[in-house]
Parts: sequence; C-alpha cells; structure tokens
Amino acid sequence: MSKRPIPIDKLLKDDFAKPTFIPKSKRAKAAESRELEKRQAKEKASSTSSSWRHTSKPRRGELVPPIQHNDPTPIKKSARRKFQFDWDESEDTTTMMQTSRRMLPSLDDDEENGTTTDEVDANDPLLKDELSGHWTTKQLPQMTERDWRIFNEEFSINYRGGGGNGGNKRDLPHAIRYWQECDLSKPIQQSIQDLGYTTPTPIQRASIPTSLKYRDVVGVAETGSGKTLAYLLPIFQYLDQIDANFMQFEKAKNEPLALILAPTRELALQITAQAEKLCTRLGYSVVSIIGGHQYRDTIDEIENGGDKENGTRGGGRGVDIIVGTPGRLLDSLDRNIINFQKCYYLVMDEADRMIDLGFERDLHKLIAHLPTQDNLQQTIDGKIFHLNQRMNLMFTATISPTIEKLTKSYLNNPIYVTIGTSTGGSGGEALANIDQKFEYLQTSKTASGPPTVESIKLNKLVKLIQSHKRTNPDSLIIIFANFKYVVETLSEELDAKQLSNVTIHGSKSQGQRELALEQFKSHNPSILVATDVAARGIDIPQVGLVVNYQMSHKFDEYVHRIGRTGRAGNFGTSITFINDDDVSVFSDLKKFLTRGGKKVPDWLYRYNSTTIRE
Ligand code: AMP
Repeated sequence: MSKRPIPIDKLLKDDFAKPTFIPKSKRAKAAESRELEKRQAKEKASSTSSSWRHTSKPRRGELVPPIQHNDPTPIKKSARRKFQFDWDESEDTTTMMQTSRRMLPSLDDDEENGTTTDEVDANDPLLKDELSGHWTTKQLPQMTERDWRIFNEEFSINYRGGGGNGGNKRDLPHAIRYWQECDLSKPIQQSIQDLGYTTPTPIQRASIPTSLKYRDVVGVAETGSGKTLAYLLPIFQYLDQIDANFMQFEKAKNEPLALILAPTRELALQITAQAEKLCTRLGYSVVSIIGGHQYRDTIDEIENGGDKENGTRGGGRGVDIIVGTPGRLLDSLDRNIINFQKCYYLVMDEADRMIDLGFERDLHKLIAHLPTQDNLQQTIDGKIFHLNQRMNLMFTATISPTIEKLTKSYLNNPIYVTIGTSTGGSGGEALANIDQKFEYLQTSKTASGPPTVESIKLNKLVKLIQSHKRTNPDSLIIIFANFKYVVETLSEELDAKQLSNVTIHGSKSQGQRELALEQFKSHNPSILVATDVAARGIDIPQVGLVVNYQMSHKFDEYVHRIGRTGRAGNFGTSITFINDDDVSVFSDLKKFLTRGGKKVPDWLYRYNSTTIRE
C-alpha cells in the first residue's frame, strides 16, 4: 500500500512562514540596510585592530620596493599581546636591529603619521604567512636570519673568516638584494643604472657591502662573474669620501689613491676600460701601466688624468686609480713616474695567476711601496682618508697554499667570500653556463699509419668551426693551443680553409696583441687562435665557442680558457681535444665535472689513477 504524500500547506503550517512576494523597491531597501550593517561592523573591527596586516603585507610573489637600511619605521607596540617566535631566537632579526622588539615597516597613512600602534602575534595566520614568505616579498627590516640563509644559498654565497679569534660571522654585513640597498652614493647608483646593470651578481652582492665596511676581502669567484665591478664600486665610494681640500689642492698628479694589480696586460686593459666608464661619469681618472706601452705616453696620461693629450679628466688632479702589471709598475716607481705614498686602497686581481706567472717577488716589492697603518695613525692621513688601516682586496678563481700565504702576509683578518663551490686546488665551479664537450682521441703513440692524429684533429676542428658558424653566425670562436708554433700552424691551416683568424701569443708585441684583440672583438675576423696568454680576463660576451685544440697541462688553465665563453649570463660551448697524454689533469677534471653536476664522459668515468698510468 502506498502512503499519500503530506500536503505542502500542512508541512509549512507550524514552522515556516508562507513565501510572500516582496516588490522590487522593498528588496532594494533591504539590501541597502544589509550593506550598511556590514560597513559598520568592518569599521568597528578596524578601529580595534592593526591596519598593517591589510595594507603593508605584500602579496606572495610581489616584489616590494626596497627601503634603506637606516630608515625602517619602528612601530610602537602595546603591552596587551606578547610577540613570540616558535623557532630558534637566533633566527630573529631583532639582534640586527638593536631592539628587543620586531619592527615592521609601515605603509599605511596612519602609520606614516606615527599614530598606529600594534602588537604582533606569531600565531596569527597572516603573520605566519609573512614570516614564511620568500625574501623577494619582504622589506629589508622583515628579513630574518633564516631568510638570509636562504638568500645566500640561492646565490651560492659562502663566507669564511673575518671574525677574529671567535670567527663571529655576525660582524658581517648582509649581502645586497637590490642595488638600492647598499651604501653607495647616488651618483654611483645612477652610473650603475646608466650602464645597464639591473641586478648585482652574486660576488657583487656579497663582497660590496663587506668592502664598504672597510673590511679586507678575499673574493673567490668563477671567471666572468662580475668581479671587476665588485671591487671598482667600493673604490669609487672610497674616493668619494676623501677630504675635498686634499683632493682639490694637495694631491700630487702622480699620486694614485687606489691601485689595481693584474697578472696580464690584457686583463689590465680590460679593467681600465671598465673603470673608465665609471670614471667619466663620476669625475675621476684611471691610467693603466703595462709593458709594451711607451713611458712617455704613461707620463702624459698621468699628467692629463687618463688622456694622452690635454685631458682635464679627474679635475686636473692627475691620476686617481692605477691599473697595472707588477713588473712595469716597479719600473715606473724606480723612474719616479708614480709614487704610492697616498695609495691606501689595494686590489690584487687574479692573484693566483700572478703567483703562477712568477710575480710573487715583484708583488712583495710593490706592496712595500704602499703606505701602512702607521702612516694613517701617525700623520694627518687618517683624517684625510678617513681610514684606520689600508684596504686590501684580493680576487682569485682558486685558493692555493701560496694564495693563503699571501693573504696572511698582506690582508688584515680578511673575510673570504666564496661563490659556488670554489674551494681551490683543482679549480672552482664547473662553470654552469658552459656545455663542456670532449673529443677523446687515441694517443699519438698508439695511432698507426695515416691519417695521423693531427690530421684527424685538424679535420674535426674545421668541421666543428664550420658547423658552429652555420648555426651561430654571430658568435666568436677562440681556439687554444699550448705552444706558439702550434698556434701559428693552426692559423695557417685555417686560413687555407678560408677560415680567417687572428693570433695572440707571447712572441707577439703588445701592439700586435692589442690589435688582434680589437679585430676579434669587432668580428673581423671572428676566430682567435691563442696560447694561454689570452686565457684569463678576456671578457667578450659574444664568444660562443672555445676549442682546446690541445688540453692545457695545468688544470686551472682549462677552467680559465673555457671561462672565455658563457659570460655575463650567456650560454657557451667548449670542446676539448684530449687523449691519454693528458692524464695528469684527468683526476682534477673528473672532480671538477662531478662537483659541478656535469656529465662525466665514459672514458673519464672509467679512468682511475692506476689504469692509465700502468
Ligand atoms: P668580470 O667578471 O668582471 O670580467 O665581468 C664579466 C662581465 O659581466 C662583464 O662584461 C661585465 O660588464 C658584466 N657584468 C658585471 N656586473 C654585471 C651586472 N651586475 N649585471 C650584468 N652584467 C654585469
């Protein structure tokens, strides 16, 4: 039997009012009053709670405009709620800000007037969100020690030393997230912008604030990482704060105020070119002193502030910054062309290479010409230069025992800033932007009959240049060999195949080397064949391919050679012809590739120190 359904009237009778029709005008009125109620409730809530949460908290992924170190707006806090962290207190930025309370930036109108007070509750979900936000979403005062650790990891920044006996790293200034956050003057900041450097590179992020605190720095970074700007910018900041009277009336023309030492002429010229860009914008002068140039020209340049003729650069003060190679600088000191009595800022670039090239004794002699801490403390120089001790900076791609020794002799409790896993010895970082390829060939001893290994190599070289040129018509190519005669022979062979090229090696005069480099830079021709003279410091972003026609006998040199490509954020390729005669570098190469997360080729993978030597 089926039950009849209960009538709707009966169902609604007791508990529900019957639906009635409400006209449109009445419905509008009701909506209006609901809206009013909502608004009143909201106003009530905002009068009793803080407004920073609604206004100042950046959304995830939003880039907060950076604010200066020294102007966070502290917020007064009521005693009502107590601020707690639920993690290690040492991670709290309060230690950085010399206050026991956390300060939050205020962006709200009321807060700008300093009228808003608020206490912070760590359990508040909004605040938790803020604490756990990425550093890109935070303003400077909001950065916790944990954020800095994450930041340093993201840029592979590592610090060592510098803390005296206890090695207390808390003395270190934090790295810079944005250019605006570092204490460089407005004109310097403007020059950085004008030159198109939108963000600092990792070595710049870490070493600039450290140098600006007048701490000695050892910068360990891969080649092409922006080291030059990392030491140039603090030099300009230093020059900027020297007593104006001294600069205007007392400085002798041949008294540089900063000295940059480089191992090779090429690198010295390159540093000078980069310094010149800043000098012309900031009103200073730079002169390079390297072998192969006429002393007369150097004297004129010093007299004219960087120009050979009648220059007025540097306000007629003569030279402010000298960039030079050790040998020629010593000669120039002997001839009284320059004197270093007021030179309290020393940079040694590619220090490892200077040692390799046998400049150690020259370095010691040169540094003996520089003024010391005593000069600063016992004469008026301390007041003129606003320094307690001479600034000593050293940049190197690798750390070796000799470098450590040099550091101990001349640097004052330095801070080591290492980018990536550069730990020295067998080279630094396996350069991330470079695809490292290898052509493993039979040794010349085991190859029998024609075609010879050399002709196989030459054929392969020609083919790969042609193929690279087809796919990358605008790219430059550098081919390295170990000997001058190999460079010259290769050059002729390539010429014969219509692959025109220029060469650089030790038997070429300075003028020829500079001309070859200029031609190569302007893609006319686009192939350079060179020995290791060109392996360091040459900075030409368009180099897309490096070929090691012969593997270098020193592993560090391999790192420097391939570092000519993949520069300034570009990608590059290196191709190395290698065979069992190169066994002395196999172990370092294997470690280097493994550490850098690169593919280890099969022949190298199979290698262990006993198999090949037997
Ligand atoms: P370096 O390691 O000093 O030889 O610099 C390598 C290249 O990076 C040079 O071409 C510089 O002009 C370029 N460079 C340096 N700093 C920056 C930066 N912050 N942003 C972009 N490029 C840079």
